[in-house]
Order: sequence, then C-alpha cells, then structure tokens
Amino acid sequence: MSTSETASFGYEDIPAEEKEERVGAIFSGVARKYDVMNDAMSVGMHRLWKDKFVRRVRPQSGETILDMAGGTGDIAFRMAPSGAAITVSDINQDMLDVGIERAAKRGIANGPEGLEWSRQNAEELSFPDRVFDAYTIAFGIRNVTHIDRALAEAHRVLKFGGRFFCLEFSTTQWPGFSEIYDAYSHKLVPKLGQMIAGDEDSYRYLIESIRRFPTMPEFEAMIRDAGFKRTKVEPILGGLVAIHSGWKV
Ligand code: SAM
Repeated sequence: MSTSETASFGYEDIPAEEKEERVGAIFSGVARKYDVMNDAMSVGMHRLWKDKFVRRVRPQSGETILDMAGGTGDIAFRMAPSGAAITVSDINQDMLDVGIERAAKRGIANGPEGLEWSRQNAEELSFPDRVFDAYTIAFGIRNVTHIDRALAEAHRVLKFGGRFFCLEFSTTQWPGFSEIYDAYSHKLVPKLGQMIAGDEDSYRYLIESIRRFPTMPEFEAMIRDAGFKRTKVEPILGGLVAIHSGWKV
C-alpha cells in the first residue's frame, strides 16, 4: 500500500513504507562488523554507557525482561548474570544470528536456560499484554519508522509496575564539544566505516539518524504520551547520549 507519509532516513525523507527495508539492509550489511565498529566509533565508550544503562535497569532474578532491538546481544549479555529471564528481540535476523554465535562463545545457552532470541518488529510485537517486568532498548529506537507505535507496544507488553529504559544518542549541550563531535561524526565516522567495514554509506546513515532524532525533552514527551509515568532523562556527556526511563503504573 502506498501512502504519502514520509519518514526520516538519515538526512533524507523517504516514503515511510520504505524505511524498514532500507534500515534492514543497513544492519544486514554491517552485522558482522557491528561490534568492532562500535568500539572504533565510540573509542570504546559505548561499553561504559551500556554498563551504566544496565546499572539503571537493575535486572533481578525472577524478572522477565525484553531487550528490544537487542541486535548482537550487548545489553542482554550484561543483564544475563542477574538471573532474569531475558528475551532478545530484533527485526533483523542477521544481527540476531551474530548475537546467538556470540552467546554460544560465552557459554550462554539459547533458550529458557540462557537467552531467548526472537525476531520481532518493535512496532508490532507478537507478545501478549503485560508479560514483562522491564523493557530495554539501546540505540535502537531511532531506527524504527513509527517511534510512537514502538513506545505504545512497549507500554502494552509491560506489567503494571514495569519499567521502560531507553539508551539513545541525543544532542550534547556542552559548549564547544558539540562542534567537535559534529565534525568528528560527520567526517571521520563514515571514513572509519569505509576502512573497517568497507561501508561508508551505512555509517553516514547512522550518524545522520542521530542528528534527526528528537531532542531529550521531545523524546521524553513522546514517552509520556505513550502512557508512561515518572519519566526521567539522564544525560551522559552533556546529552550526547541519554538514558530515558519511565514506569507503567
Ligand atoms: N541494542 C544493540 C546495541 O546496543 O548494541 C543494537 C543496536 S543497533 C544500533 C540497532 C538495532 O535496531 C539493529 O539491530 C536493528 O536491526 C534494530 N531495529 C531497527 N528497526 C527495528 C524495528 N522496527 N524493530 C526491532 N528492531 C529494529
């Protein structure tokens, strides 16, 4: 079905119905180099941001947690030692396959004894209502075509008392730093992508998609509109990255 609705794809506006496929092609293309590129692009800092994010989530044994857009498993691997029952979901099977291989290398079983891996579109989850204690999404939501639908689904699948956590790039408000970061990200990251992953365009998309993402207050308002209460934003590096959270009550 063709509609006149558009969606951002990096700095481009494209027909909304094309975004999912184009984002899919990006992540299928980078899946095998995704982890090494994350280290290169963030000079290892994504590891610290993810550690902090998981400290905020505070997964507990006996909880059920959905790690949405979980990709190659970085967030799930950090939560697994808690003993929580974790489902890693992503729309892209190539990303999940890399995650399943990484889990096997770490001795983490595929299934109820370890991690569950489930291909899902964040906008249209196949899970029933009110089954998860926590929903996490790290560096995933900006790739989704309809962010409001993904937030509504997050709210639907959480139990009452359940918590929502999102780690995402935003805009740093530190004077001077934003100019340096802008120059670095627009010029150097695509070159790094070319050198390491042989793919300049995908990394240009990743940077441009960060620029198009709503500001911290705008995104917090979207989380509230989805029904979450007691929403909070924790900026990291002046807001270069932010942890958003909210409760379903
Ligand atoms: N959470 C992982 C991490 O922090 O390393 C992976 C983040 S990666 C930048 C973004 C992920 O979002 C990709 O694996 C991509 O396939 C996934 N994604 C994009 N659109 C999605 C959608 N509509 N539903 C579920 N996952 C999606």
